[in-house]
Amino acid sequence: MPQTSDLMPVEEHLAQILDACAALPPRVETVDVVDAHGCVLAQAVTSAIDVPAFASSAMDGYAVRRAETEHARPDEPVLLPVAGDIPAGRTDRLALEPGTTLRIMTGAPVPDGADAIVPVEDTDRGTSTVAVRVAPRPAAHVRPAGDDVRAGQVVLGRGTLVDARVLALLVSLGRPRVDVVRPPRVAVLSTGDELVEPGATAGHGTVVDSNGPMLVAALREHGFAAERVRAVADDEPGFRRRLDEVVAGHDAVITTGGVSAGAYDTVKAVLSASGEVTFRGVAMQPGKPQGFGVLGAPDGRRVPVFTLPGNPVSSMVSYLVFVAPALRLLAGQEAAGLAGVVAVTDEGWRTPVGRTQLARVVLDQRPDGLHARLAGGQGSHMLGALAHADALAVVPAEVGEVQAGTRLTCLLLRPRPAEEVTHDPAR
Ligand code: AMP
Ligand code: MG
Repeated sequence: MPQTSDLMPVEEHLAQILDACAALPPRVETVDVVDAHGCVLAQAVTSAIDVPAFASSAMDGYAVRRAETEHARPDEPVLLPVAGDIPAGRTDRLALEPGTTLRIMTGAPVPDGADAIVPVEDTDRGTSTVAVRVAPRPAAHVRPAGDDVRAGQVVLGRGTLVDARVLALLVSLGRPRVDVVRPPRVAVLSTGDELVEPGATAGHGTVVDSNGPMLVAALREHGFAAERVRAVADDEPGFRRRLDEVVAGHDAVITTGGVSAGAYDTVKAVLSASGEVTFRGVAMQPGKPQGFGVLGAPDGRRVPVFTLPGNPVSSMVSYLVFVAPALRLLAGQEAAGLAGVVAVTDEGWRTPVGRTQLARVVLDQRPDGLHARLAGGQGSHMLGALAHADALAVVPAEVGEVQAGTRLTCLLLRPRPAEEVTHDPAR
């Protein structure tokens, strides 16, 4: 049995990070309403107006007084003179004279006196006189003012993430500015003497900095503002300088590399000596060496710093498990992690006792349910398997060998195909 008692359980490390981040003040700002996209509402939003602002037609047709058309039938149409047209965008107030009709387009204001719209399909489409062939129901195809939102109504709660749909609603309320929590600005700082810049080819003894672009991309996919800082060498004063710079200019910092027990583990050397970051082994594979701390910026802000291990798979898994939920808290959201599904393993594999394994798996939907198999090599440097995986299968710490046919929770790395998530009662 390996010695594992000094490793901290995944949930405990996460809980400590979330506690620390929950205590940090959110970055509340007043922004132009269209710039609220991707932000979280800092206050509930009450509408000052009715939406729609006026009664409008839901169809292209004819505005009528219903009583004048109630006897219309296909074989006995009611004839009405067409007194004019109301296209969408007409802003003057029109009245419908008794015994006439006005041709009206979708979205145009319903004239005073009209109480129903006869769709063009129920007429002969006349332009000087129209034959109404079907009697409209009361208020047919009239969208009343305020039938979407009423003035005074609380429309959106505090904490709502402004996505495309919420943004459309906010804009329709006619408010120019809105108070929001801005998503954190996150710096990604890779460390290692061996690193060469993305775009270069690795030679003997060098490695392309894949962590930097990977984490920036993941941050952006999650709606955070991210900036990659050019990788720094394993040089303590150089790392310190660069770290202080990014702490001064960002709301959170992610470093990768230099946190193990090696002789050149710069991040750990600098930040454990100063006591600003707590380093520990977490009972997880990949991603055992972890560090987290909150540093002070020159302007008094407190900036969480996540020091992730350098192996790319470890970095990514650490980001997904620890960093993304913490950043969501900073962004004013719930600290949600990855969504899970249950799948049955098609094969067995050995896993370390005492560490929760997050195995990279491919999922396959079959008639008897969801199946999982390893996506490829499970080494923490193996980006191939990570790139092809659909999910991270969670193997509990006490398990030493996964048997084929085991049900495992699989944390989704990408959305499932629609046919697999659609509920089909015929099945
Ligand atoms: P470290 O955590 O610094 O001991 O690095 C562990 C392993 O990850 C080593 O093989 C490094 O070369 C590799 N590594 C560290 N940083 C990166 C990076 N930014 N991109 C790709 N591989 C890295
Ligand atoms: Mg290193």
